[in-house]
Amino acid sequence: MDKMEKTLFEKICDKEIPADIVYEDDQIVAFRDIAPKAPTHVLVIPRKAIPRVNEAQPEDQALLGHLMLKAAEVARSLGLGEGGFRLVLNNGADAGETVPHLHCHILGGRKMAWPPG
Ligand code: AMP
Repeated sequence: MDKMEKTLFEKICDKEIPADIVYEDDQIVAFRDIAPKAPTHVLVIPRKAIPRVNEAQPEDQALLGHLMLKAAEVARSLGLGEGGFRLVLNNGADAGETVPHLHCHILGGRKMAWPPG
């Protein structure tokens, strides 16, 4: 069977599409969002193409834990540790998800409103 078409973010992982990568390891890649919604806006994604957190499986537990801890580490490395930052996962149409490859937004560098729009 043919492999499914790669997602945009798989192509970024495989360096087929350029991105401003701020951190990567064997499990995840973190890169700057192309249309930033805050002074610092980075996406952290698993190399594994999990569409969204709703489709994550029990065997993804360690990967998602790694992603969360690294998101905080990346946020600190970008100077957001002191002032704070927001981590966001948009899951599905109502949440505004546009790329079907699980990604955690790191947003920081300005005061955030709550509740989100
Ligand atoms: P979401 O709306 O939660 O699915 O987030 C998708 C994010 O991906 C948006 O914030 C987009 O600006 C961002 N995005 C789309 N294409 C690219 C790209 N080629 N490089 C970096 N970020 C991108």
